Amino acid sequence: TWDRVQQRLLKTVGHNNYKTWIEPLELQSLNDDVAVFTVPTNFMGNYVGQNFSDLILHEFNVDGFHIQRLGFKVAVQTGASAISGKRAPLFEVMDDDASDIALAEAPVKAAPSVVKRPVAESETLEALQAAPLDPRFTFDSFVVGKPNELAHAAARRVAEGGPVTFNPLVLYGGVGLGKTHLMHAIAWELTETNPDLNVLYLSAEQFMYRFVQALRERKMMDFKHLFRSVDVLMVDDVQFIAGKDSTQEEFFHTFNALVDQNKQIIISADRAPGEIKELEERVKSRLQCGLVVDLHPTDYELRLGILQTKVQEQRMTYPGLSVADGVLEFLAHRISTNVRVLEGALTRLFAFASLVGREIDMELTQDCLADVLRASERKITVEEIQRKVSEHYNIRMSDIIGPKRLRSYARPRQVAMYLCKQLTSRSLPEIGRRFGGRDHTTVMHGVKRIEELRTVDGQIAEDVEMLRRTLEA
Ligand code: ADP
Ligand code: MG
Repeated sequence: TWDRVQQRLLKTVGHNNYKTWIEPLELQSLNDDVAVFTVPTNFMGNYVGQNFSDLILHEFNVDGFHIQRLGFKVAVQTGASAISGKRAPLFEVMDDDASDIALAEAPVKAAPSVVKRPVAESETLEALQAAPLDPRFTFDSFVVGKPNELAHAAARRVAEGGPVTFNPLVLYGGVGLGKTHLMHAIAWELTETNPDLNVLYLSAEQFMYRFVQALRERKMMDFKHLFRSVDVLMVDDVQFIAGKDSTQEEFFHTFNALVDQNKQIIISADRAPGEIKELEERVKSRLQCGLVVDLHPTDYELRLGILQTKVQEQRMTYPGLSVADGVLEFLAHRISTNVRVLEGALTRLFAFASLVGREIDMELTQDCLADVLRASERKITVEEIQRKVSEHYNIRMSDIIGPKRLRSYARPRQVAMYLCKQLTSRSLPEIGRRFGGRDHTTVMHGVKRIEELRTVDGQIAEDVEMLRRTLEA
């Protein structure tokens, strides 16, 4: 039985995964609803449980079994077991994610010893303040709309000072949605109301840089002491330290030390902490302990609001210039979700208009922003792709999005995922969400599968090409 199941799993999970995770499993017992395997290590049991349970259960039950759960017993050792297979979310193969999980299992090193030595005089906090705060990034200049109201409210709350209610505050969202702006605004507000407060803002990159420098110059004690003596620590773009092991380790200790002292920590990232690959599990879970709020992509109203505010700013530089009716609406409508691009467009418009001595009207806008407008032209959407693919394969759209695993749905679904990856700027997790809330690893697996098939399966190659042409037309 197990042999047959294994053979099928080989096809589903691919050779590498099979060799690593499936082949070493030994079926120990099989009764009504539980299959128990012996595994060489506890880690392996956990990993297989988390990642392959559904597939294994499925393949067994195709053979007429009614297995509900899988058990993994560690061979020899103490016999510790990890039972898995609960109504798990749909798990699928993670082709190259093993290192990520292995990291999570890495032993936690002992905490650094207590700092006794006084800080070297030259190393002041000012010296450490590597990133000056941008004076334009205040709460006053931040436009609030539906997509960012929660993040804004949370930032406001933290900026009030007072007792720490949620720690850390994690702001996440795509590029140009205002994370840095909000962090600076908090810093400005805090230091304005309480000038004695040590507020340290820096990017994760600068954190790493300081850390490496301290290592090199043998100043780790100073480093630790400095970071542990701030009242508020803000680390921007924390995804940067993912995969950088010793920096993560130091970050983790700094983080814990500050939380222990009840000091406020504010973090930003370009996606949800749980979705940052190669970020250690323990760092992720620390980040998730606080308040995690996301900045959604801007909508039309917010973009228009931001444009109106920015026009006021531009007027300071170019007092004589006016903007014709409809221009801002046009820009808000046409330019993507990234506020930075929107701002850039406006700056360019004003500079250009003052140069040629023209009013900012639609004609000038079209002339001056032709490239920007072209770049943001007609975006192919996930829904469009799903619709075209379902038409092509003559199935219902709900079958593409739905949970059915029949091959006649699974393959078109993978084709659709592949096209979404190729033709839209959506991230894997975003695509997964639009496919009935699937995990990003499922999407990754689907994309890879089609990539492979395209080279060996003429029919798939043709389907994909044809769909791409219709979509891009
Ligand atoms: P992120 O750090 O999320 O990539 P930034 O905070 O650097 O984005 O924002 C990019 C630019 O867009 C900045 O100039 C910022 O002032 C502006 N911006 C973003 N969101 C807003 C908003 N809601 N109101 C005003 N300006 C905004
Ligand atoms: Mg930023």
